Amino acid sequence: MSAYDELMAFQRQTEALAQVAGRLGWDQETMMPAGAAEQRGEELGAMEEVLHSRRTAPEVGQWLAAIDDASLDAVGQAQMRHIRRNYARAVRVPAQLAARIARTTSVAYGTWARARADEDFAAFAPVLSEIVALRREEAGHIAEGGDAYDALLQGYEPGATGEELAALFDDLRPGLVALRAAVLEQPAPQPVSGSYDLALQLALSRKLAETFGYDFTRGRIDTAVHPFSSGSGSDVRITTRTAEADPFNCLYSTIHEVGHACYEQGIDPAYALSPLGQGVSLGVHESQSRIYENQLGRSRAFCHWLYGQMTDSFGDMGVADEEAFYKAVNRVQRGFIRTEADEVQYNLHIMLRFDLERDMARGTLEVEDLEEAWNARFAEDFGYAVDKPSNGVLQDVHWAAGLLGYFPTYALGNVYAGCLYLALQDDVPGLDDQLSRGDLSAATGWLHKYVQRHGGLHEPRAVIEQACGFTPSEAPLLAYLEQKFADLYDL
Ligand code: ZN
Repeated sequence: MSAYDELMAFQRQTEALAQVAGRLGWDQETMMPAGAAEQRGEELGAMEEVLHSRRTAPEVGQWLAAIDDASLDAVGQAQMRHIRRNYARAVRVPAQLAARIARTTSVAYGTWARARADEDFAAFAPVLSEIVALRREEAGHIAEGGDAYDALLQGYEPGATGEELAALFDDLRPGLVALRAAVLEQPAPQPVSGSYDLALQLALSRKLAETFGYDFTRGRIDTAVHPFSSGSGSDVRITTRTAEADPFNCLYSTIHEVGHACYEQGIDPAYALSPLGQGVSLGVHESQSRIYENQLGRSRAFCHWLYGQMTDSFGDMGVADEEAFYKAVNRVQRGFIRTEADEVQYNLHIMLRFDLERDMARGTLEVEDLEEAWNARFAEDFGYAVDKPSNGVLQDVHWAAGLLGYFPTYALGNVYAGCLYLALQDDVPGLDDQLSRGDLSAATGWLHKYVQRHGGLHEPRAVIEQACGFTPSEAPLLAYLEQKFADLYDL
């Protein structure tokens, strides 16, 4: 057996174990009895230790030294690119530091939740300072003299740099601030009203999942507090949630997670349980969930079909007609919370977090000054003051979980979705006609062909560029939003 074959066999077992760990995490959020929480923590910790030791195993280093990448085909070279990159990252971080980060972030979750309930940022600041310091130390090991923030960012978005994203977002932000202000000057559309049977919501969300191409023979939908998708290959599960007064929460959470899941389900089966067998980056992942949810799912054409479906399921929704329904789906309103934000405002929330966390990672913003910096930036972009920390700096769990460099991938995903939608409209004739009949097959088929099936074969930016045939930029997203909301709000 060649060194490459031995490495790939070892890697396959590591990937299989990672899938098992993921399934434990899925179970924790969906099925696990409450009394099992402590034991599950230990089970997951043990799995994490096994995975860490495999990812840093000396024999991997020996195989890597013995393999001549140039002698491999394109798929083999792509596999090696992932394995070499992940191994270099993993071995550079001292085991003791990794363990300290895991311990600190597991304690920080509780501290953050209490601080948020008490509206007290000062109670969270010390542990956040510790997390930032630890992750900066980790970044120092990984970057070997390079930019600390880039080292963290590239754990989620290989190849991306903070500088390049900052330039992209600086081009996007003024247009969004202006669009948001113009939209909010207009009278707000009516939301839907009434009460929506939860079982009927779940039944319709299953139908939507099928409509968007989710394969139930290799997946399932359950409910969880926070919607997510989990798994790769032939076991890709999603969760959704229900609220009696807001059916769109369930339906659009489902479509979003189906976008993530279809990416994983759509990857070439030949890559299963290998480094190429999963979505290539968080940004590309989010481009799939967002284009399913927004550009396709919230389009005028698709809302025509959905209006009929929802009227059949729920009867009167308290909106006058189909046009009012479309406006209710795309309602823009003042708010503070990222996860509740609409297409116009969502990226402003992300850019705020990106700039602040980049400054923290680079040491130009101290955690003790974070709340003030947050509130000042929020007032600048949104035009009103944050009223309490749970509506501001304490609203997201990410930093408590140690996730620095993660936020910008959401906005990058939206930018990529804008690019893909432009190319897709060019390539798929009669798209609106299909969407208005609830036929997503050509649109999702296009995404499968140009993005999803490749898994990790191409670098994140390259897969988007090849799919679109042009260099990705913020322009298509901004043009799409300006056109859509000018039409919606008579601007
Ligand atoms: Zn997502």
